[in-house]
Amino acid sequence: MKVPFSPPRIDDVVIKEVTDALQSGWITTGPRTKEFEKRIAAYCDVPHVVCVNSASAGLELILRWYGVGPGDEVIIPAYTYAATANVVMHCGATPIMIDAEDDFNISALKIKKAITPKTKVIIPVDIAGFPCDYDLINALVHEPEIQKMFIPATEEQEKLGRILVLADAAHSIGAVYKDKKSGKLTDISVFSFHAVKNLTTAEGGAICLNLPQVFDTEEVYKSLCIKSLHGQTKDALSKMQIGNWKYDIVEAGYKCNMTDVLAAIGLVELERYETDMLPKRKQIFDAYSNAFKQYDQFIIPPYETREKISSYHVYLLRIKNISEAERDEIMQRIFEQEVAVNVHFVPLPMFSFYKENLGYDIHDYPIAYKNYAAEISLPVYYDLSDEQVEMVIDSVLKAVGIQK
Ligand SMILES: *Cc1c(COP(=O)(O)O)cnc(C)c1O
Repeated sequence: MKVPFSPPRIDDVVIKEVTDALQSGWITTGPRTKEFEKRIAAYCDVPHVVCVNSASAGLELILRWYGVGPGDEVIIPAYTYAATANVVMHCGATPIMIDAEDDFNISALKIKKAITPKTKVIIPVDIAGFPCDYDLINALVHEPEIQKMFIPATEEQEKLGRILVLADAAHSIGAVYKDKKSGKLTDISVFSFHAVKNLTTAEGGAICLNLPQVFDTEEVYKSLCIKSLHGQTKDALSKMQIGNWKYDIVEAGYKCNMTDVLAAIGLVELERYETDMLPKRKQIFDAYSNAFKQYDQFIIPPYETREKISSYHVYLLRIKNISEAERDEIMQRIFEQEVAVNVHFVPLPMFSFYKENLGYDIHDYPIAYKNYAAEISLPVYYDLSDEQVEMVIDSVLKAVGIQK
């Protein structure tokens, strides 16, 4: 491939920081992870952040913390990656899928009709890094008739007294909605630092706590650290301190803590995220938009509006009036020019698991299907050169039969 899809940015600065971590004598959760948590919290302007080994683990940890279980319903978009639904399944609850809007995100207007007395959590997803309509979603969970429907079953649910809004912000670190950064837009948000994401630690995730005053966020932070490490009251580092070996197990916790080796990558990436990464991604988005907006066939994805600024995660180009099969053929012609493209996402109701086990039918999600059938994701990453951007543009134009 002349243009790969999304290689991570790994340079000497990252390698040096990781080497330092390896040589420091402390490789699992320790000072670098704690520093990374503090820096993310400062970046997003939230009181506490818990780092974990993936966004999936982070989302599940929060569902478990909120006491989501069998008989409960969690509202999610149909247009997302499988992780959003699977974490709900792991808890024994039922994912309730909602159709998309034209901007690819969950339809905030359609959420209301899906709310029942069993609804415990809504998980909006900022697809491609473009924030959802959070004013609408946050207002919804506070509506008196919706709050009245809520039946609390745990201490946390009692305290909040309403549906929890848990953003799957896997794509959207650095995105802005009405002057607030992703991480601060809902009760709790979870970032992914998977290898293909904007900010990577190879694998990793972070939970941003932005809970209302009724919660002692510091206490919640501590309990999530314990929950992410087998319910152990002291982490390995504090146990190491002289005379501090004794600990208790307070619950059957999980094992999803972040390691210092990986936090080392994250510290470097976060430091230069606003100065290097976001401007570079914006520049690529603008180059694609400027090229494709000259032709009537394309639908340019929204990424900057009066209220929202994307994190420029993936460029979701759509081609007007084509079928899914025609889209696949166009992709094939792009691949033949050695340019890697992708599709984000196949709507979940199209996968056999959700179709056969949960009875989902893609016909109930016409906008998600329409968006998917016309969509081709173009490469966006730090090391993508101007020449490569031109190659991507040329390959798309050629594949759809446009003479420049
Ligand atoms: C990548 C992704 C996740 C999962 O992130 P991991 O860190 O790999 O667990 C969740 N939701 C969406 C929308 C994603 O794209």
